[in-house]
Amino acid sequence: MQRELAAFKDPQLARGLIESIGKLAPAGGATLMEVCGTHTVAIARNGIRNLMPPGTRLASGPGCPVCVTSNRDIDTVIALARIPNVTIATFGDMTRVPGSTSSLLKEQAAGRSVQIVYSPLDALALAAQRPEREIVFVGVGFETTTPLVAMAIKRAAAADLKNFTVFAAHKNMPGALEAIINDPQLKLDALILPGHVSTIIGAAPYEFLAKKYGIPGVITGFEPVDVLQGIAMIMRQLHEGRAEIEIAYARGVMPQGNPTALAAIDEVFETCPAIWRGLGRIDGSGYRIREEFSRFDAVRHFQPDVEPTQDPKGCRCGDVLRGIMAPSDCPLFRTVCTPENPVGPCMVSSEGSCAAYYRYY
Ligand code: SF4
Repeated sequence: MQRELAAFKDPQLARGLIESIGKLAPAGGATLMEVCGTHTVAIARNGIRNLMPPGTRLASGPGCPVCVTSNRDIDTVIALARIPNVTIATFGDMTRVPGSTSSLLKEQAAGRSVQIVYSPLDALALAAQRPEREIVFVGVGFETTTPLVAMAIKRAAAADLKNFTVFAAHKNMPGALEAIINDPQLKLDALILPGHVSTIIGAAPYEFLAKKYGIPGVITGFEPVDVLQGIAMIMRQLHEGRAEIEIAYARGVMPQGNPTALAAIDEVFETCPAIWRGLGRIDGSGYRIREEFSRFDAVRHFQPDVEPTQDPKGCRCGDVLRGIMAPSDCPLFRTVCTPENPVGPCMVSSEGSCAAYYRYY
């Protein structure tokens, strides 16, 4: 197994793929967008952006779940944290994301109860251990985390847990991709599609990109050879004038996705409009908890009093997430905004473009 995995870092294979990319790349240049935060980090860490032929641009997209969470949603979580007897259970990155006037970390310093967890099932266990507290899990992320949250809600229902709720801000990727494709400020030639999300949803939800918009896409993994292979397959499609959705990550993704995980999402959630940082409102791109499970919906249960929302002053995360601005072009990058003192979520999250640029460029 180790030997098989080592092949995905093999310098010789990588060199061959870089050569193919150079030969197949359109003479007039091309803009490819990676829409997954893990790809953003893999591209930065392995110096792949600098290996592209002249005229080929790799733009980062809206694939970091913490980054695309709107300020209104962050403010709502902060309002929930201020309710007496509530403990917020959340992934670590979320605690440092600045809302309009505070963050979960600041709320914790002010005496509110905020607990870092590694999965929604940890939050469920916390609720079972602490029946005297109201445990609110912060549900952000794409289809990779949504099935686990659905599972946690189903288990809470089965155990009749009365002190567990979820702030549901989950999103799905295809709706955001359509918004990106239609952005008049961005001319995209192809998409490097996410491996993790596609493990759950498969390839079919992306077909509209090729059929309706003529944009090729390749689902790929996260090792250097995976990413280069995905780019080489895209270049081949552009070279041959094809637009298809292909899978370069067959060891992780089946065309039909994961039907069990999809069924769990569908049982607990229904799609709804969602507000994305940078992209605004996109119909059908969010998930809300279905009526049958509404007692686990933290917003319906607590009706938090949310302060008026204002975006961080000077932060260009919205433009970075739309792929129309590189993080290093933000006037605050590295001067005012650093991982120690982040102004926006793209510098907070380990999958954020600004944090990746800060660390690797
Ligand atoms: Fe926002 Fe900081 Fe990124 Fe600028 S560098 S876009 S301020 S997160």
